[in-house]
Amino acid sequence: MDESSFPRRVAVLGSSGSIGQSALEVIAQSEGRLLPVLCSVHRRTDILAEQLLRMPPHTLPQWVVVTDETADRSPLKQLPGIEFFFGHDALCELVRRDEVDVVLSAIVGSAGLTSTLAALEANKTVALANKESLVMGGALLTSLTQSGKGRLIPVDSEHSAIMQALRSWAMEDSTRISGGCAIDKIILTASGGPFRTRSLAELANVTVEEALAHPTWNMGKKITIDSATLMNKALEIIEAGWFFALPAHKIGVMIHPQSLIHSMVEFVDGSIIAQMSLPDMRLPIQLALSFPHRFPGPSLKLDWQQMRTLDFYPPDFERFPAIPLGLEVVAAGGTAGAVVNAANETAVTAFLHGRLPFQDIVEVCQSVLRHHHFELRPTLEQLLRIDRWARNEAKKWVR
Ligand code: MG
Repeated sequence: MDESSFPRRVAVLGSSGSIGQSALEVIAQSEGRLLPVLCSVHRRTDILAEQLLRMPPHTLPQWVVVTDETADRSPLKQLPGIEFFFGHDALCELVRRDEVDVVLSAIVGSAGLTSTLAALEANKTVALANKESLVMGGALLTSLTQSGKGRLIPVDSEHSAIMQALRSWAMEDSTRISGGCAIDKIILTASGGPFRTRSLAELANVTVEEALAHPTWNMGKKITIDSATLMNKALEIIEAGWFFALPAHKIGVMIHPQSLIHSMVEFVDGSIIAQMSLPDMRLPIQLALSFPHRFPGPSLKLDWQQMRTLDFYPPDFERFPAIPLGLEVVAAGGTAGAVVNAANETAVTAFLHGRLPFQDIVEVCQSVLRHHHFELRPTLEQLLRIDRWARNEAKKWVR
């Protein structure tokens, strides 16, 4: 894709989720710069039909994919003029087509990996919201992009912030989002989640309802629980390791409860460049779709008439062992991310069903990581196999 070309035709993978819904708002307000060419959902055909019925008819996507072939198809009958496809293979085939310029990968969990791989193999720009793709298949995805296949642009607010901070320095090359040896470290910010101030003993009694009430970000259930355990930050540490090709000792985390600074880069001379904006995912989504260009959009702007304070403090590794676990995975590379990601998905589901205590979520991940058969350069087959193995291991903990 030519970097300067608009309109861009966007495939929205995971359109019923929180990122997908925000992406459709961004696209609707882009004044024709972004056009949806494909929308996919797993099962929520009802939400998809509602979304599409709200769009002006001339902006409807050409294709709709429902990846779960057993999903209720009746809501789709209200949508004329769209071609429907069913199943994951259809999705992987469509994202490769010439009509697609940018693929927004926003399918939740490890299910997003194969479509992300398919898009990169077809040399597409992938706006990556599905952090599990990179956590699980970082070795595979980065070997593709390093060999010149496709391009990955972060959607996660922290990684978008780092990309923006790095670009402020590495201006000589518009496609490079690496500051190379000039980086001393990157600092991912974390809101600290709803249990930031709880003691270790208090964390033992956390309920599902408490864990689902996030103070600053309004997101899906899986990521909200990940934010409460700080496993989301662990996954972001791993994601950052792959995105920016950094070793574990160059990745830091600071708790920043206001969620106004989305991450920072500290350079070797001590200069720190931070990216700041209100916590609104529509901003990093839009930037990933329009990269490297910016245009006005629906994101909320800071009100400078109001006094603001910015607090930062280092995370407590004892109360939140997810952080050192994330760094351990970066240091290991290979299959370590796939194992932790799978164990975490299983543990979070069990917690949401009241079948695993809150504090066991990270412990399950640690235990499964320590027991797995490590591979440094896994194939997709090996990754999928180890993903299944890790889920079964994690299930042994579930009541
Ligand atoms: Mg994030």
